[in-house]
Amino acid sequence: MNNFYIKTNRTFSPIRKYGWIFTLTVAFGGLWLPKLGLLVLPVILALTTLSFFKGRYWCGNFCPHGSLFDSLLMGVSKNRRIPKFIKSKTFAALFLIFFGFNITRKIIKASAVFGTYPFWDKLGFIFVASYLMVTVAGGLLTLVISQRTWCHFCPMGSMQMLSYKLGRLLGVAKITDEKITVAHKDLCHSCGKCYRVCPMQLAPYQEFSEENQFDHSKCIRCKTCVVNCPAGVLELSSRKQALLTAENVSLEGYEDRQKISAVIERIRELKEDVREIRFRFLSPERVDYQAGQFILVQIQKEPVLFRAYSISSFNENGTGLSVTVKKAPQGYGTDIVFNQFSVGEKIQLEGPMGGELLVDKEAEKVVFVAGGIGITPFVPLVQEMTQKDNKVKEVHLVYGVNKEQELMYDEYFEEMKKTNPKFRYHKVVASDDSWKGRRGFVTDILKEMELEGSKVYMCGPKPMINPTVKQLQSQGVKEEDIFFESA
Ligand SMILES: Cc1cc2nc3c(=O)[nH]c(=O)nc-3n(C[C@H](O)[C@H](O)[C@H](O)COP(=O)(O)OP(=O)(O)OC[C@H]3O[C@@H](n4cnc5c(N)ncnc54)[C@H](O)[C@@H]3O)c2cc1C
Ligand code: SF4
Ligand code: SF4
Repeated sequence: MNNFYIKTNRTFSPIRKYGWIFTLTVAFGGLWLPKLGLLVLPVILALTTLSFFKGRYWCGNFCPHGSLFDSLLMGVSKNRRIPKFIKSKTFAALFLIFFGFNITRKIIKASAVFGTYPFWDKLGFIFVASYLMVTVAGGLLTLVISQRTWCHFCPMGSMQMLSYKLGRLLGVAKITDEKITVAHKDLCHSCGKCYRVCPMQLAPYQEFSEENQFDHSKCIRCKTCVVNCPAGVLELSSRKQALLTAENVSLEGYEDRQKISAVIERIRELKEDVREIRFRFLSPERVDYQAGQFILVQIQKEPVLFRAYSISSFNENGTGLSVTVKKAPQGYGTDIVFNQFSVGEKIQLEGPMGGELLVDKEAEKVVFVAGGIGITPFVPLVQEMTQKDNKVKEVHLVYGVNKEQELMYDEYFEEMKKTNPKFRYHKVVASDDSWKGRRGFVTDILKEMELEGSKVYMCGPKPMINPTVKQLQSQGVKEEDIFFESA
């Protein structure tokens, strides 16, 4: 099975990227110049003060050791699960007592020469030694377990948690603190990516409060989950901002989300790495969904994990649906779908969901843009939009893939093109010498089209979406007429 935890960029600012230079300077440079250790004193003062207002914000954004683990050592980390006892409060408390006792003992000893020049060297060296110890111990834990293992029992982290507790008790942190916030729980895909990328191995998606916030004292506010959430529903915000977000969020397309128990009726291999899976609903027996929506498919019970898949079938009688799944390299979920899903197996679904690709039936000209496996929602959408009972006069599908063999549902769209005069099918292949048709990207096709007044709906990988949006805007398509979902 592929690794549950994902290594991803966690350094979103120069301090987070290069803070480790400070660590190595103090820890190793201090062996020759002990006074360098005195630089640690303002660091301790800053982190305890900041945590009074913002919890462990320091750890995720300024900590030089954190930078060492995330920036310099992450590449060689085993990225394993952090053992429970290391994550426990008891372990952190015992370590804080042990560390506090030791450092106090050393400071008292150094105080014997207070007022003389060597006192500052002795004091500096105490902090150099502790910085070096954290560098070696934290570094080794990074290598054999994962990057922020040390941070679970770091005495500086524990001190911040105490200071934060005081800030909360006095009511200050309630106003100044920012926490991971989900725009609305119904928009979350329960995919667990926030858990898989979290350097502290916390699971925000399982613990959102009534106010949609993740209230965990160990959260270091690093925003790695925010950057990686595929639904784009996370932000780091104050309680006030969270309430505002909840008030203004649109739930269009998500109102009918429900738990559905289903059985796998058929698995069809469309390509070597693409399978179409047909589910029949068991309870409830009928579920209505709209073309362009997606469904969540449960892949694991503990921790509970779902994967979002666009519905690639038509809602004929509401008794089932199909999804089309492409195996992802190193993919945790698709590994389960491809190796463990079998016909007759009962699977939990959730949905239907998604308002981004619900097409405006009043529009005269509709352009669909698909990249790779992002073609799936357009299978039912093309059929629906080319029917006679709507105002749409022209439906274009611009479909881009890297290699010819990646083209999906090609025969279906070719057939639609022949039989339906409303429908225009433009396919383009990026890098395949044997391909006889049009070569290039979806943007090359769009450039040649008259797009003003069109409504454009896109689905594909993120690297396709951003340049395409720019291209569309340069051709006069209004921002409010561009809709997309990133698969
Ligand atoms: C609204 C929506 C609709 C979607 N519709 C479809 C659809 O119709 N069909 C479809 O096939 N997909 C669809 N997806 C994508 C789908 O939800 C999954 O993301 C996809 O199947 C991959 O899941 P996974 O668990 O196998 O990959 P993950 O394990 O989540 O990995 C994703 C990628 O991350 C990288 N990765 C994973 N683990 C590691 C690691 N340890 N180290 C480094 N890199 C790593 C790999 O590059 C991998 O390919 C849709 C997504 C959304 C949000
Ligand atoms: S990463 Fe997945 S589980 Fe976590 S909040 Fe985003 S959608 Fe929900
Ligand atoms: S929950 Fe998010 S912000 Fe908090 S530590 Fe984990 S990844 Fe960072």
